[in-house]
Amino acid sequence: MRAAILREHGEPLAVRELPAPGPASDGAVVRVDACGVCRSDWHAWAGHGEWADDRVPRGQVLGHEPAGEVAAVGDEVDRFGQGDRVVVPFSLGDGTCPHCRRGAGNVCEDGRALGFEAAAPGAFAERVAVPAADYNLVERPEWLDPTAAAALGCRYMTAYHALAERTTVGGGDAVAVHGCGGVGLSAVQIAAALGARVVAVDVDDDALALASEFGAADTVNPASLPAERSVPERIRDLTDGGADVSLDALGIAETCRNSVRSLRPRGTHVQVGLTTDAERGEVSLPTDWMTRWEISFLGSRGMPPTSYPDLFALIEATGIDPGELVSRELSLSEVSDRLAAMDEYDARGVEVVTEF
Ligand SMILES: [Zn+2]
Ligand SMILES: [Zn+2]
Repeated sequence: MRAAILREHGEPLAVRELPAPGPASDGAVVRVDACGVCRSDWHAWAGHGEWADDRVPRGQVLGHEPAGEVAAVGDEVDRFGQGDRVVVPFSLGDGTCPHCRRGAGNVCEDGRALGFEAAAPGAFAERVAVPAADYNLVERPEWLDPTAAAALGCRYMTAYHALAERTTVGGGDAVAVHGCGGVGLSAVQIAAALGARVVAVDVDDDALALASEFGAADTVNPASLPAERSVPERIRDLTDGGADVSLDALGIAETCRNSVRSLRPRGTHVQVGLTTDAERGEVSLPTDWMTRWEISFLGSRGMPPTSYPDLFALIEATGIDPGELVSRELSLSEVSDRLAAMDEYDARGVEVVTEF
């Protein structure tokens, strides 16, 4: 099978012929029809994470947002069979530990991150192996085509989990979204669908135009603010005293702190973006101010596979379309160039590999 392999961090991926995987006894092999390209791939490709001993190894097949059809299953798999339409969450649980049993497979301590570690080769490939398939595979509804499902497989579900499960955004809430890349735009669309009034923040006017299209009531471009007005001040003006929920979808120190400072008293910040080499996993925060105003700071990662039916129900009930986020379809050999483009933040919406 053809697969895109990380030869050296920051160097072009190699598209090579690899032996196709077979299913483990509790696992499945999925024929990949579509796989999104994400900022997490860019982090992996660039070699970030060394400080946390979390660098993706050379030789890794990247790609963690697959949708497709089951090609084969192991003999212990009950719920799935050849030809089933599926989505594969990137945060794979072992399916048996207390976290998985409680419906939190995304924080499974024995879990694997698809496409980020040698034990879990990714889906920039014609086939991808999925461990603990009964637990991890998600049945894809007929109305959800593979390309839209790939857009949903990481950023959309991450945004849903952050807004609807880690915290519970509802009608009338003011929600600020800092960073309008794939996960930020997903958050805008989902927060609006949940009934919130959304303020979107980005330094790129094209990204903000998309945010407006996806339901943002207001947009803020820090570069266009008068010198005496900060992003948090502008958001507090627009939301009559501060956002109920604010989400950092980017993960740099400035957006994280701006997000916290955008909140009203007792507001909730949700951190979704992972930091870069500049922050090395740590951001200093206004803790006295957070204490004074009883601010909550939550981390949020991916979404447990068991939450997909709720997300599908929201999509069906409100008519929102994750496929609208797809800005470009790619072939496997184009992935390298699109990762390099992320150095300059020159990628909008969600780009999806559909040709392998
Ligand atoms: Zn992703
Ligand atoms: Zn587990």
